[in-house]
Amino acid sequence: MSEKIHLLALSKNELTEFTENLGEPKFRASQIFKGLHERRLQSFDEMTDLPKNLRERLDEIATVSTLKIESRYVSIDGTRRFLMKTHDNFPVEAVFIPTDTRDTICFSSQSGCPLKCDFCLTAKLGLLRNLTAGEIVEQIITVLNDVYGVGEETPHGTNLVGMGAGEPFLNFENLIKALEIMSADDGLFIVPNRVTISTAGIVPKIYEFARLENRPHLAISLSAPDDKLRDKLMPINKRWNIEELLAAAKEFEKSLRAGERFTFEYVLLGDVNDTDEHARALANLLNRYELQRVKINLIPHNSAEPLEYKASSAEQVKRFQNVLESKGVAAFVRRPRGRDIYAACGQLAAKSVSGER
Ligand code: SAH
Repeated sequence: MSEKIHLLALSKNELTEFTENLGEPKFRASQIFKGLHERRLQSFDEMTDLPKNLRERLDEIATVSTLKIESRYVSIDGTRRFLMKTHDNFPVEAVFIPTDTRDTICFSSQSGCPLKCDFCLTAKLGLLRNLTAGEIVEQIITVLNDVYGVGEETPHGTNLVGMGAGEPFLNFENLIKALEIMSADDGLFIVPNRVTISTAGIVPKIYEFARLENRPHLAISLSAPDDKLRDKLMPINKRWNIEELLAAAKEFEKSLRAGERFTFEYVLLGDVNDTDEHARALANLLNRYELQRVKINLIPHNSAEPLEYKASSAEQVKRFQNVLESKGVAAFVRRPRGRDIYAACGQLAAKSVSGER
């Protein structure tokens, strides 16, 4: 199977080349692209606008689907976690997060993760491998089909967050390619403005990302106001420290469009990085770099065995937020979703829990 070419990984131009090599007219590429991305069909057989012999030929050399859903968990808050497996048996997780007005899909860029953030469960897996562009696109298609049915219209707009397993900026090329494929107006039509990518701080890629013509929004995981603490919590800080990270953020700020902001994520760990003192240090840090178009998303820690950290008290979260606000830094508290099914931030580690639906 792995020998077959995964068509979800092909850009429209590549798909055109592919069909031309089969001796097919150009418009076939367009039909196939729509079948894959706009209609989200799961087999060539369903592409009934193609001649039967072409469908058979495609089936021999190509595939539209390589991921298998292994388990699917539904939270009491409506969040769904999908545990999938690649053709070579690596775990891939995606999370569907509905609200009244829109859906958000959190996708993974890698199977496992090479970064060793001390408070994150995914880190315990280590890096298993990078996901291909096709595997990234397929996560979104699989989730939409499961929630709404194959080929059914989606009632809400879909937002994407690259905040699942893995470090997106360590799989930069495949990520950007997948996003380009998903932005096509005769496909999924998820435009960059609906996408946010989160990085733990791969500094050179922040500069590269800033230069992209049509780039999504950016979030940077910070989680500590000084190098000593960040070295411990997020060892990537030993490679690129806070000064280098904030210099890159400052440069990124210049690339913001009208009305756009970017985000620092700060995981609140009880008694570790959540005191008033930490909040003041954080606000001073951001003010020192004169970062003005930034907001802080405070993420109360989602606990998970065997992580040793605990969440901050609700009271301390509020105090932390107030200190930041009093120093002119916009801060929001992210409401955890899907904690009961290990779907929340930092909990994606291919865990099986009871209550599969
Ligand atoms: N590697 C990227 C993408 C992952 S995003 C990054 O680090 O930004 C996942 C977000 O959840 C990050 O901001 C991360 O710091 C946060 N996170 C990790 N473990 C967590 C946990 N146990 N509870 C709450 N947030 C966590």
